[in-house]
Amino acid sequence: MGDKLEEYKRKRNFGRTSEPRGDLERSRSGRLYVIQKHAARQLHYDLRLELDGVLLSWAIPKGPSLDPSEKRLAVQVEDHPLEYADFEGTIAEDDYGGGTVMIWDRGEWEPLENDPRKAYEKGKLKFRLQGERLKGRWDLVRFHSKDDDEGKNWLLIKEKDEEARSNEEVPVVEEFTSSVVTSRSMEEIAAGTGSGKKRQKKRKSD
Ligand code: MN
Repeated sequence: MGDKLEEYKRKRNFGRTSEPRGDLERSRSGRLYVIQKHAARQLHYDLRLELDGVLLSWAIPKGPSLDPSEKRLAVQVEDHPLEYADFEGTIAEDDYGGGTVMIWDRGEWEPLENDPRKAYEKGKLKFRLQGERLKGRWDLVRFHSKDDDEGKNWLLIKEKDEEARSNEEVPVVEEFTSSVVTSRSMEEIAAGTGSGKKRQKKRKSD
């Protein structure tokens, strides 16, 4: 079967990047969920769901929407190691994925099918998110388009439930612009400063 993270490792030089190499085989819950805001060449949001020891990963150019009528393109990328859920920081500009990474949301996911592996392979995952910012029921659905012969194009869709918001006044990606873990802005993460509100207060009183 080989190394599950072969593609992830091939794309990175661990002597240079501070991204994790990946040794963990399972998180405590087995159902980690994270979204990382990633200011690479093009800003996007990386959705990651733990399944069978890796983080399945999709890059979402526009990020998630709470409006069930807003289907968001989610391009599947290589599986990431479980430790990646804790990664916040910068990747050198000329390295793969160079730019700033923020932990935008985090928690657990719960598949709504008995066999999530089979559902994933069929290209339709239904699940519930228990993040700090995103909750409720969501679908990830693979679709086929002419420019995608590898089957990497999926859609992330909010299901209608009490967490959905139609015609959002403020889109959720604009409502929350700080790290869910350190409260830092993208600029603070990029500069390697400001580990949250406490430090900001302290600076002012200095
Ligand atoms: Mn990314």
